[in-house]
Amino acid sequence: AKENGKNDFQIFMPYMLMKNLKKIEIEKNLKKAIEEDQFQLYYQPVISLSDMEIHSVEALLRWVLPEKGIISPLEFIPVAEESGFIVKIGEMVIEKAFLDMKEWEKKGIDYLHLAINLSARQFKTKFFENMVQKLIERYSIDPTKISFEITETGAVENFDVSLRILSFLCQMGIKFLIDDFGTGYSSLIYLKRLPIGGVKIDRSFITELENSKENRAIVEGIILMAHKLDLKVVAEGVETKKELEILKEVGCDFAQGYLFSKPLPKTEIEKLLIARKII
Ligand code: C2E
Ligand code: CA
Ligand code: CA
Ligand code: CA
Repeated sequence: AKENGKNDFQIFMPYMLMKNLKKIEIEKNLKKAIEEDQFQLYYQPVISLSDMEIHSVEALLRWVLPEKGIISPLEFIPVAEESGFIVKIGEMVIEKAFLDMKEWEKKGIDYLHLAINLSARQFKTKFFENMVQKLIERYSIDPTKISFEITETGAVENFDVSLRILSFLCQMGIKFLIDDFGTGYSSLIYLKRLPIGGVKIDRSFITELENSKENRAIVEGIILMAHKLDLKVVAEGVETKKELEILKEVGCDFAQGYLFSKPLPKTEIEKLLIARKII
């Protein structure tokens, strides 16, 4: 046995074991996090490229651990899905976002649309659509101002269940966007059969847009195809003026990214929402 401390332990610990320990650690703490309400929503603005005004905000979840700092949803959402906590967390996200939206409305911000992320399994859990309907009614939210973002895989696996839930919520006026579009393996044939309002082009295609012919071709292709299918297009991860220019040139509808703003806590995003124009 060794005595020279934690560092050696980490170096020799097999990767999978590390991952599992981390997972168990997260799982153990998620329950407490829900009970103690350690979750917070950040918001990132989405800009309409026709007038350069803020059209909507995307709610992005943060787990704020006292002392330890912020944990990314990329780390805990998969664990929450496996352990079932996603049902509670998902409901809490929707409720918090609706409450914030109501508050903004009272402050005169009445134009704002809201996008909420749903993980692949989350929206197929029992009573998901009833839960959404209940919250829409309880907070008297205009459903036509709400979009849910789901991935291609999430939309297509268990297709019949997907179709039923999307159709139900769509009839209420809620829209669905395909998130990370272009990174999945799903068939357009399937997507075409779902009531989808738009696609969000994944950040990986927007990066290097000015230097990569391939990325530009892909982005142009997606936009052309989407518009023919009557779908709106949002570009994620827009970081430079040049990227923005190209996106305008090729007819993209909406853009989102650090060029405009990082995701911000409620109190900070408010100033941007009131101004409505960032650049
Ligand atoms: P996503 O839905 O693709 O969200 C976009 C991610 O890109 C966000 O990371 C955002 O902060 C980041 N981002 C935005 N603009 C830029 C940019 O210009 N440059 C770069 N480098 N990054 C940018 P975040 O907030 O860490 O979220 C990661 C993922 O976690 C999200 O990816 C989404 O899939 C998931 N997620 C976030 N909130 C929720 C939630 O409430 N529920 C569920 N189920 N998943 C969520
Ligand atoms: Ca998203
Ligand atoms: Ca993405
Ligand atoms: Ca994603």
